[in-house]
Amino acid sequence: MLANVRIVLVNPTHPGNIGAAARAMKVMCLERLVLVQPRLFPSAEATALASGADDLLARARVCDTLDAAIDSCGLVIGASARVRNLRWPKIDVRDAAAMVAHRPEADVAFVFGREHSGLTNDELERCHYLMNIPANPGYSSLNLAAAVQVVAYELMMTQAGSQVTGETTGEDLATATELNNFYDHLHRVVLDIGFLDPDSPRQLMRRLKLLFNRARPDRTEINILRGILTAVEGVNRARGSGGV
Ligand code: SAH
Repeated sequence: MLANVRIVLVNPTHPGNIGAAARAMKVMCLERLVLVQPRLFPSAEATALASGADDLLARARVCDTLDAAIDSCGLVIGASARVRNLRWPKIDVRDAAAMVAHRPEADVAFVFGREHSGLTNDELERCHYLMNIPANPGYSSLNLAAAVQVVAYELMMTQAGSQVTGETTGEDLATATELNNFYDHLHRVVLDIGFLDPDSPRQLMRRLKLLFNRARPDRTEINILRGILTAVEGVNRARGSGGV
């Protein structure tokens, strides 16, 4: 149960929050903690706050980048207290947990931001959904470990047999790495064909990523899209060299 779910903390500053997050996870049967460039880890403070969940700390994976932390995930959910300008697909914590409960076959990451500044837009671009914990509109930012606790609790509740609805299961969804490779390819092609002006890129790539993230493509679809890009590159090269 929930073995496919990982909790990713990006750049946590306070070791105590890492420990408290591990405890929050273990009491709700979550096991996989991933840390992206924690300021200090391991640490006595984290172990103290973990209070019996130190086994989970010992098994925590430490990564240099968010991309590495979410590598095999077919579903990536970014937790944010703030409403963003761009139209990220938004979901509340309960619906997110329900969605995960219906997708036991895919690796899933819940990504949490820094204590002081949350997640950057660049990091959120890697997320299929922006997840919010409904709170006081005038004071909506939970402590990092408290936010992990709410997510873990909602996930646990889906396992307890409550009635939940979610999206239907997708087959073999493209992983974060496969999507990133596709975005790199797409970026190269829109530059090559002169559609994207490198001096004035505006929001093109960000909007395209949001579009494809919303579509939740599976592996075959990504392969088709990459095949089209490769064909476009061929035509473009042939034109450049005076061919067809
Ligand atoms: N000051 C930061 C908040 C950081 S709180 C900001 O303005 O974004 C640390 C992390 O806890 C956040 O990045 C987010 O991942 C999570 N979090 C806190 N409150 C939340 C809420 N109401 N909904 C969803 N996630 C929340």
